[in-house]
Amino acid sequence: MNLILFGPPGAGKGTQAKKLVAERGWVQLSTGDMLRAAIAAESELGLKVKDIMARGDLVSDEIVIALIAERLPEAEAAGGAIFDGFPRTVAQAEALDALLESRGKPIGMVLRLVVDQNELVERMEKRAAEEGRADDTVEAFKNRLETYNAQTAPLIPYYQAQGKLADVDGMGGIEEVSARINTALDE
Ligand code: AMP
Repeated sequence: MNLILFGPPGAGKGTQAKKLVAERGWVQLSTGDMLRAAIAAESELGLKVKDIMARGDLVSDEIVIALIAERLPEAEAAGGAIFDGFPRTVAQAEALDALLESRGKPIGMVLRLVVDQNELVERMEKRAAEEGRADDTVEAFKNRLETYNAQTAPLIPYYQAQGKLADVDGMGGIEEVSARINTALDE
Protein backbone atom coordinates (compact mmCIF):
# COMPACT_ATOMS: atom_id res chain seq x y z
CA MET A 1 0.00 0.00 0.00
CA ASN A 2 1.08 3.56 -0.64
CA LEU A 3 0.78 5.57 2.55
CA ILE A 4 1.36 9.24 3.31
CA LEU A 5 2.49 10.10 6.82
CA PHE A 6 1.30 13.64 7.20
CA GLY A 7 1.81 16.31 9.85
CA PRO A 8 3.79 19.35 10.90
CA PRO A 9 7.56 19.30 11.46
CA GLY A 10 8.33 17.41 14.65
CA ALA A 11 5.14 15.32 14.52
CA GLY A 12 7.14 12.07 14.39
CA LYS A 13 6.71 11.21 10.70
CA GLY A 14 10.31 10.05 10.21
CA THR A 15 10.40 8.00 13.41
CA GLN A 16 7.12 6.26 12.62
CA ALA A 17 8.05 5.73 8.95
CA LYS A 18 11.19 3.86 10.06
CA LYS A 19 9.10 1.64 12.34
CA LEU A 20 6.75 0.82 9.45
CA VAL A 21 9.71 -0.06 7.24
CA ALA A 22 10.86 -2.57 9.87
CA GLU A 23 7.36 -3.95 10.48
CA ARG A 24 5.88 -4.03 6.99
CA GLY A 25 8.81 -4.00 4.59
CA TRP A 26 7.60 -0.90 2.80
CA VAL A 27 10.06 1.74 1.58
CA GLN A 28 10.37 5.13 3.30
CA LEU A 29 10.49 7.97 0.82
CA SER A 30 11.60 11.04 2.76
CA THR A 31 12.36 14.04 0.55
CA GLY A 32 14.02 15.71 3.57
CA ASP A 33 16.44 12.75 3.95
CA MET A 34 17.13 12.74 0.18
CA LEU A 35 17.89 16.47 0.23
CA ARG A 36 20.12 16.16 3.32
CA ALA A 37 22.02 13.35 1.57
CA ALA A 38 22.54 15.64 -1.45
CA ILE A 39 23.89 18.36 0.86
CA ALA A 40 26.23 15.90 2.58
CA ALA A 41 27.48 14.72 -0.81
CA GLU A 42 28.01 18.36 -1.85
CA SER A 43 26.29 17.61 -5.16
CA GLU A 44 24.94 20.32 -7.45
CA LEU A 45 21.47 19.71 -6.01
CA GLY A 46 22.86 19.89 -2.47
CA LEU A 47 24.49 23.25 -3.09
CA LYS A 48 21.27 24.56 -4.62
CA VAL A 49 19.04 23.62 -1.66
CA LYS A 50 21.38 24.09 1.31
CA ASP A 51 20.47 27.69 2.21
CA ILE A 52 16.77 27.25 1.42
CA MET A 53 16.58 24.30 3.81
CA ALA A 54 18.60 25.99 6.55
CA ARG A 55 16.07 28.85 6.52
CA GLY A 56 13.17 26.43 6.73
CA ASP A 57 11.72 27.39 3.35
CA LEU A 58 10.43 24.85 0.84
CA VAL A 59 12.58 23.80 -2.11
CA SER A 60 10.87 23.86 -5.50
CA ASP A 61 8.09 21.42 -6.34
CA GLU A 62 10.01 20.39 -9.46
CA ILE A 63 13.03 19.20 -7.45
CA VAL A 64 11.14 17.09 -4.92
CA ILE A 65 8.74 15.61 -7.49
CA ALA A 66 11.75 14.44 -9.53
CA LEU A 67 13.36 12.89 -6.42
CA ILE A 68 10.17 10.97 -5.64
CA ALA A 69 9.56 9.84 -9.22
CA GLU A 70 13.05 8.34 -9.34
CA ARG A 71 12.37 6.15 -6.27
CA LEU A 72 8.86 4.90 -7.10
CA PRO A 73 9.89 1.68 -8.88
CA GLU A 74 11.90 0.58 -5.83
CA ALA A 75 8.94 1.23 -3.50
CA GLU A 76 6.57 -0.58 -5.85
CA ALA A 77 8.82 -3.63 -5.85
CA ALA A 78 8.73 -3.63 -2.03
CA GLY A 79 4.91 -3.53 -2.00
CA GLY A 80 4.47 0.07 -0.95
CA ALA A 81 5.85 3.50 -0.18
CA ILE A 82 5.64 5.52 2.99
CA PHE A 83 5.76 9.14 1.89
CA ASP A 84 7.35 11.18 4.68
CA GLY A 85 7.53 14.94 4.26
CA PHE A 86 6.08 14.71 0.76
CA PRO A 87 3.77 16.08 -0.59
CA ARG A 88 4.01 19.51 1.06
CA THR A 89 2.05 21.59 -1.47
CA VAL A 90 -1.13 21.01 -3.45
CA ALA A 91 0.95 21.01 -6.66
CA GLN A 92 3.09 18.18 -5.24
CA ALA A 93 -0.02 16.23 -4.23
CA GLU A 94 -1.49 16.58 -7.71
CA ALA A 95 1.78 15.48 -9.31
CA LEU A 96 1.97 12.48 -6.96
CA ASP A 97 -1.61 11.48 -7.75
CA ALA A 98 -0.85 11.65 -11.47
CA LEU A 99 2.38 9.63 -11.10
CA LEU A 100 0.74 6.91 -9.00
CA GLU A 101 -2.39 6.72 -11.12
CA SER A 102 -0.28 6.22 -14.22
CA ARG A 103 1.29 3.24 -12.44
CA GLY A 104 -2.08 1.92 -11.22
CA LYS A 105 -1.09 2.23 -7.53
CA PRO A 106 -2.86 5.23 -5.97
CA ILE A 107 -2.44 6.49 -2.40
CA GLY A 108 -4.32 4.13 -0.07
CA MET A 109 -4.34 6.27 3.05
CA VAL A 110 -3.13 9.55 4.50
CA LEU A 111 -2.40 9.33 8.23
CA ARG A 112 -2.19 12.70 9.90
CA LEU A 113 -0.22 12.78 13.14
CA VAL A 114 -1.86 15.32 15.41
CA VAL A 115 0.51 16.91 17.94
CA ASP A 116 0.20 20.09 20.09
CA GLN A 117 2.30 23.05 19.02
CA ASN A 118 4.16 23.19 22.39
CA GLU A 119 5.09 19.53 22.07
CA LEU A 120 6.41 20.15 18.51
CA VAL A 121 8.80 22.81 19.81
CA GLU A 122 9.97 20.54 22.66
CA ARG A 123 10.64 17.69 20.21
CA MET A 124 12.56 20.02 17.89
CA GLU A 125 14.76 21.16 20.79
CA LYS A 126 15.47 17.56 21.75
CA ARG A 127 16.33 16.65 18.13
CA ALA A 128 18.53 19.74 17.82
CA ALA A 129 20.61 18.44 20.73
CA GLU A 130 20.76 14.91 19.29
CA GLU A 131 21.18 15.46 15.53
CA GLY A 132 22.30 19.07 15.07
CA ARG A 133 20.18 19.68 11.96
CA ALA A 134 20.78 23.11 10.42
CA ASP A 135 17.03 23.85 10.40
CA ASP A 136 16.37 22.85 14.02
CA THR A 137 16.95 26.38 15.33
CA VAL A 138 14.21 28.46 16.96
CA GLU A 139 14.10 30.85 13.98
CA ALA A 140 14.09 28.20 11.21
CA PHE A 141 11.63 26.00 13.10
CA LYS A 142 9.21 28.94 13.47
CA ASN A 143 9.44 29.44 9.71
CA ARG A 144 8.89 25.71 9.07
CA LEU A 145 5.73 25.77 11.18
CA GLU A 146 4.46 28.86 9.37
CA THR A 147 5.28 27.27 6.01
CA TYR A 148 3.42 24.14 7.07
CA ASN A 149 0.33 26.15 8.04
CA ALA A 150 0.36 28.22 4.84
CA GLN A 151 1.40 25.71 2.18
CA THR A 152 0.98 22.19 3.55
CA ALA A 153 -2.17 22.34 5.70
CA PRO A 154 -4.32 22.90 2.54
CA LEU A 155 -3.59 19.23 1.79
CA ILE A 156 -5.91 18.28 4.65
CA PRO A 157 -9.10 19.22 2.75
CA TYR A 158 -7.47 17.90 -0.46
CA TYR A 159 -7.19 14.37 0.95
CA GLN A 160 -10.39 14.65 2.97
CA ALA A 161 -12.22 15.23 -0.31
CA GLN A 162 -10.68 11.98 -1.60
CA GLY A 163 -11.90 10.17 1.54
CA LYS A 164 -8.35 9.12 2.42
CA LEU A 165 -7.51 11.15 5.51
CA ALA A 166 -7.39 9.56 8.96
CA ASP A 167 -6.26 11.40 12.09
CA VAL A 168 -3.99 9.66 14.57
CA ASP A 169 -3.20 11.10 17.99
CA GLY A 170 0.55 11.76 17.77
CA MET A 171 1.00 12.73 21.43
CA GLY A 172 2.81 10.38 23.80
CA GLY A 173 5.60 7.86 23.38
CA ILE A 174 6.88 6.32 20.14
CA GLU A 175 5.39 2.87 20.89
CA GLU A 176 2.04 4.31 21.87
CA VAL A 177 1.77 6.29 18.63
CA SER A 178 3.01 3.31 16.61
CA ALA A 179 0.22 1.12 18.06
CA ARG A 180 -2.37 3.74 17.05
CA ILE A 181 -0.94 3.86 13.52
CA ASN A 182 -1.11 0.09 13.18
CA THR A 183 -4.70 0.06 14.41
CA ALA A 184 -5.63 2.71 11.82
CA LEU A 185 -3.84 0.76 9.06
CA ASP A 186 -5.48 -2.54 9.95
CA GLU A 187 -8.99 -1.13 10.27
P1 AMP B 1 11.92 17.34 6.61
O1 AMP B 1 13.09 16.49 6.91
O2 AMP B 1 10.80 16.60 5.96
O3 AMP B 1 11.46 18.14 7.80
O4 AMP B 1 12.40 18.41 5.52
C1 AMP B 1 13.45 19.32 5.80
C2 AMP B 1 13.44 20.44 4.78
O5 AMP B 1 13.67 19.90 3.47
C3 AMP B 1 12.17 21.25 4.65
O6 AMP B 1 12.06 22.28 5.62
C4 AMP B 1 12.31 21.81 3.24
O7 AMP B 1 13.26 22.85 3.19
C5 AMP B 1 12.91 20.61 2.50
N1 AMP B 1 11.87 19.70 1.99
C6 AMP B 1 11.67 18.41 2.36
N2 AMP B 1 10.63 17.87 1.73
C7 AMP B 1 10.14 18.85 0.93
C8 AMP B 1 9.04 18.93 0.03
N3 AMP B 1 8.22 17.89 -0.16
N4 AMP B 1 8.84 20.11 -0.62
C9 AMP B 1 9.65 21.17 -0.45
N5 AMP B 1 10.68 21.17 0.41
C10 AMP B 1 10.94 20.03 1.09
